Formats: sequence, structure tokens, C-alpha cells
Amino acid sequence: MKHYIGIDLGGTEVKIGIINGDGAIVKKEAFKTESTMSGDQLVAYMADCAKKVVTSAGMTMKDITGAGIGSAGLLNPDTGQLRIVVNIPQLNDVFIAPGLAKILGVPAFLDNDVNAMVLGEFYYGAAKGYKDVVAMTLGTGVGGGLIFDGKIYRGAAFTAGEIGHMSIDTDGLYCPCGNYGCLERYIGRDGIIQRCKMYMNKGIETSINNYLENGEVTPRAIAKAAEAGDRLAREVMEETGRILGNALATLVNILNPEVFVIGGGVANAGDLILEPARREMKKRAYTIPAQKAIIVRAALKNDAGIVGSACVAVDKLSA
Ligand SMILES: [Zn+2]
Repeated sequence: MKHYIGIDLGGTEVKIGIINGDGAIVKKEAFKTESTMSGDQLVAYMADCAKKVVTSAGMTMKDITGAGIGSAGLLNPDTGQLRIVVNIPQLNDVFIAPGLAKILGVPAFLDNDVNAMVLGEFYYGAAKGYKDVVAMTLGTGVGGGLIFDGKIYRGAAFTAGEIGHMSIDTDGLYCPCGNYGCLERYIGRDGIIQRCKMYMNKGIETSINNYLENGEVTPRAIAKAAEAGDRLAREVMEETGRILGNALATLVNILNPEVFVIGGGVANAGDLILEPARREMKKRAYTIPAQKAIIVRAALKNDAGIVGSACVAVDKLSA
């Protein structure tokens, strides 16, 4: 059976795992990265860590078919070069995939974390068996990944899929991207919290204060209160779902996908958000493509980053 290394590059740590041809994790480990390391040192360190994981799985590099790297930021998947990595600036302009390939002795490929996520869901998750897929991650940011006719769509400058920066209100809230009314400002983590606090400040009765996390209103706290029947919390989740559904309706009309896969921390609220999203999408979109499009939660949970990153290699090597 083939095995692939998945490298999920984060701001302070790198998660490395090995998946088998069924998408199951054979071995995984997280390694802290130091901000004092140079770009080249980081690449060598990651290769070292990957080798450690391979060894602890009882394998050698001969058992590995390829390695995939998923990273936030701007990058070039064709050359394997990171361009702008906000959290790890010393990796700016580093050719990370060729660097790792050279040390590991296997082909290595780079893509952004949301493309990695959609590839993971496409090969081993909720989008398995479909060929026209739109994936979204709902968290601090709102990201998107697109697969058309079984192939990932990256766009002319490899930036396609920025669903979070689709403006849903011409004169809406300012977004740091420079636009106004971006979807992310309304259904990203902060947008949800701000809306919830606005209702709370109006003096509407709520039990949300019983569910705070470290004293803070969070999407998870709101979801817990909503599950317990809190009306304000339910309305915040419902409204989040309606705003999402409105955006999905636009995507249905433009892209006509078979499935929307919704992941990220905020999506853990499940049907509290997805049910109103389904209703709103069906109400607004053209009937025929809306009937075809289903909205489901991402299937890969905690290990989504590792499996998705490995699938960047699976995808390149199975093409
Ligand atoms: Zn924006």
C-alpha cells in the first residue's frame, strides 16, 4: 500500500503525519517551531521531524510515495514556493517543497491550507464520489476551495476560492482586505461574536453568560446556549446560517456544484447553522441547481490538516 506524508504548517507548530492509501493516519506528531530559525533551518527541521515520524511508524523513506505541505498565506503550488506567510515571515519566498523533496528523497508538493482541506474531503471525506465541490472553512477567517470536474481550481494567480471576501453588502462593514461588506465580516468568528454582543447589549434575556469560555462570548459558547434552547443564541446561529445560505445561493447560481462541504471551528455548530443555510440557499438560488446542491459538514475533523496536506501529494501523484 502507498503511504504519504502530510505536513500541516501552522504559526507555532508543524503537524506531521503519515496516511495510507485509505486516508487513515498511520502515525502523527506535532513539533514546535522556533521563530529564531531561518527559512532554510525550518525546512531542514521539518524534514528531520518528518523522518522521525516515518521511523517511529516502523517505516523508511522507501515506503513513502510523496509528501504534501499545506500552509496559510500566498504561495505558488507550481514551484512549491511560499510567497507571503504572515505568521512565519522567515519562510517568505522559501522554496519549501523542492527543499523538502531534496532532503527527503521523495516528491513534495505545496498548496494552501484550504485547498488541502478540500482535497482531503474529496479523496477521503464528505466530498468523496463527487466531482464538483465547493468547500468552505468557517473560523477566524472564512476560506474556500474549489474542485471542478474532479480537478482543483486555483485560478490565474493561485488565489481562487476567497469566498470569505465576496461582498454581500456594497456599503457594509469595512474589511481589512480593502473591500466593504465581505462575507467574513459577518460569519467569521469575530462577526458572529460582535452580532451576539450587540443583541446582548440590547438587554434581550439570554443564558449565554452561563456558557462563556474564559469569560468570553465565543461561537462555541453561543452554540452551546443555542443547543440548550436559548432564544437569543438560536437567533444568532440562525442568522449566521441565513447569511451563509445567501452566499451559497450566489455560488450555486454561478458554479452549480454538487456539494458544499463546510468545515472549520464555527461549523461545529452543525445544523444550528447548516439547516437555516439550506433553507436560505433553496429560497434564493435558481431551482434546478439548488435541487442538485447539498450542504454537508466536513467529515475529516481533528486530523483534517494532516490528511488534507498529504492529499496535496496524493492529487499530484495520481494525476
Ligand atoms: Zn474582505
